[in-house]
Order: sequence, then structure tokens, then C-alpha cells
Amino acid sequence: MATIEWRSPASEMAVRQFEVAAERLNLDGNVAIRLKRPDRAMIVSVPTRMDDGRVQVFTGYRVQHNDVLGPFKGGIRYHLDVNLGEVSALAMWMTWKCSLVGLPFGGAKGGVACDPMQLSRNELQGMTRRYTAEILNFIGPDVDVPAPDMGTNEQVMAWVMDTYSQHKGHAVAEIVTGKPVEIGGTLGRKEATGRGLVYSIMEAAKHLGVDLSRCTAAVQGFGNVGSVATKELASVGVKVIAVSDRTGGFYDPKGLPVERILEYAAKNPELSGCPFGAPISNTDLLELNCDILVPAALGMQITGENAGRLKCRILAEGANGPTTLEADDIIKEQDIFVIPDILANAGGVIVSYFEWVQDLQNFFWTEEEVNKRLREILTRAFHEVLDISERDKVGMRLAALMLGVSRVARAMLWRGLYA
Ligand code: GLU
Repeated sequence: MATIEWRSPASEMAVRQFEVAAERLNLDGNVAIRLKRPDRAMIVSVPTRMDDGRVQVFTGYRVQHNDVLGPFKGGIRYHLDVNLGEVSALAMWMTWKCSLVGLPFGGAKGGVACDPMQLSRNELQGMTRRYTAEILNFIGPDVDVPAPDMGTNEQVMAWVMDTYSQHKGHAVAEIVTGKPVEIGGTLGRKEATGRGLVYSIMEAAKHLGVDLSRCTAAVQGFGNVGSVATKELASVGVKVIAVSDRTGGFYDPKGLPVERILEYAAKNPELSGCPFGAPISNTDLLELNCDILVPAALGMQITGENAGRLKCRILAEGANGPTTLEADDIIKEQDIFVIPDILANAGGVIVSYFEWVQDLQNFFWTEEEVNKRLREILTRAFHEVLDISERDKVGMRLAALMLGVSRVARAMLWRGLYA
């Protein structure tokens, strides 16, 4: 077999997950072979003028996995670990995620290997604009629509939108989602992933007959997903006993003061120094005795090594790919209800879809409308996955993959192979 440039632990994991679902679905071999690899993968050099006058060349990526259902869709990640393999895995997961929740989008992901915390605002803007320019001919409102992911935010999306618009000669709001509301963003997008995660936890709790007001939760990661999930969990009566970010975490079995931690996080770039609870490491947090565990940070946090020590009842995956294949096998043997990443964190891309639709129509919705439709879509998807899981006696992860993959495969069979 020819060298597969995008091979990496993350892409091996994504491909293996796909193979298991494909086998179970008895998928047409000619379709399966195409879905194992991305449609298109780009590596670009991103020369950036640093504040000291030097030029630094960052490496950027955009991987477009499959667009049979509609324009490619997926975030842009700024992180030192970004590489072709990771971006390819994330792009594949986007394909299944969009399909699973019934969006007319394909899957993509992009990123730049950098530490955004180490860049000044000026450097970040220069890098973002040049990265956008490098992929400009491969994105577009009906081609590929980027969004935020780890290390990027609404400001970065505003620069992407502006760069694209300057090249076109007019404002093109619909080129990117997760923008500030003032330039065509939607109400409720920033909160969408964390909020959606909690909607899916509420459905899981109903299914399991668990009373959320008696539950405890531990949340790993305090970025856009983790912080909103923490807030929303507290608002439905869950006692949050631990939170963390990349600098470490805080734990209090009696419950942390969520409002005050959110205030602290709004004023400080990291949680270190937060005066609430006792310090706890990111790895120890995962092993806490709690009802709901939310990994909402990096991928591959739950591994063959620590999976056997999880003590939660519900594992709600806010992050993309937080659980390795080995860990998954171990978790299957335990009494843990998994809400897999492509379902649990789909709220972000669902509201991205709403943003894109509103931009295309120049007609904007209220936040109530956004949240109501988000909840409807997620609840429907949750039950579709649960039905497959019960009918076919497979775990929730495999059921979600089976649903996502089967819709994509059916569309590919209808459209055929252009050759
Ligand atoms: N980066 C987010 C994800 O992984 C959102 C993608 C989007 O909104 O397009 O789902």
C-alpha cells in the first residue's frame, strides 16, 4: 500500500472506528474504501511577521474529508499538536457528526501548529489572515465553511471573514460561523456546544432514570465547551465537584462555587491560582467518583491505562476523540453510559448551521428560537442513536457511527462515482 501521509495515532483511531462501523453495517466495499481517506488534504506555509520584525513560518492545514451531503464544514484549531494526521481524524469525525444530526454538510477541519497563548494579538491576526489567504481558493460559503475549534474564537473568525471578504470585494458573512453577532454571527453560538452537551446529558439521565439534582460532575477543560457545560450543569441542579484547564484543576466533594469560578475565569487567562477547592491534576480528575464525567479538553485523555479506573455513570464527551480504542473496549465492560463525541458535542456545528442559514437569508432569529431548534435536533439524534444501540445491541459510540456513516454511504451510492 502506498504511504498514507496522514497516518497518525488520531487518524488510525478514526479509521479503525470507521472500519468497525462499516463492518457492522455491511457497507459496500467500494464506498468504504473511499471514506477511509480524505477527499483533499492541504498543507500550507503561513509566513507571519512577528513583533520583533522576524518572519516565522507556521504550518497550516485544511483537510476536507467528504462533501457528499453538502459543503465541507469544520473548525480551525490552533495548537502545538496540530498535524496532518490529527486534522484528518477531526475532519472525518466532522463528516459523521454532521450526518448523524442531519445537517446538509460534509466534514472538514483545519489548523495551524502554534501556541496561540504565546502570540501577540498582532501576530495572531497576521497568521490568521495569511492562513486564510493560503486556503482561500478551497473554501467558500457553498464549498467549505470554517468555524472555531480549540485555540480559536470569535475574533479569529472575524479576521477570517474579513480576509475572505476583502478578496471578494464585499462582506461575505456566510464564509465562516462562530463570528461575533455584530458581523453576522448568531445568538447562542458561543454557548452551543456546552449547552448541547447538557441537553444530551439530560436525555441520558431521563433514559437511565437518574435525577440530575442528585448528581455530581467533573469537567476536564475550561475552554468554550467546558466552561459553558459547567455553567449549564449547575443550572440544572448538578453539583460540579471538579473543573480543570491546562494548568491543573480544583476539586471540592461538597461542590464548587460555579458562578465564582466563571467570574475568575472571565478575568484570568488560566485557572491556576483559583482560590476554590483543593488542587487536582487533570489525570486524577478523570478518576474521581462522580456521576457525570465530561472530558472537554484534548483528545486521547481516556486510555487503556486509566479507563479501568473511571468511576462515573455517564461519560459525556465534549472533546473530539477523548477516548482511545483500547479505553473504549474497557469501558464497554463497565456500567458507564457513553454519550460519544460526535453526538455530545454536535451542538456547536448545529448552531453553526443555523448561523450559515441566517447569513444566507439575511434573516436573524432570537436566542430562544436557536436554543429550541438546537434542543429538538439533539434530542432527536440522541434517540435515534439510542434506538440503534438497543436494536443492534451495540454501544452508543458504535450506534452513533453507524447512523452517521450509513447516511453518508447512502448518499454516495445515489450519487455514484464520477470517473
Ligand atoms: N469545531 C467544532 C466541532 O468540532 C464546531 C465545528 C463547526 O461549527 O463547524 O464540532
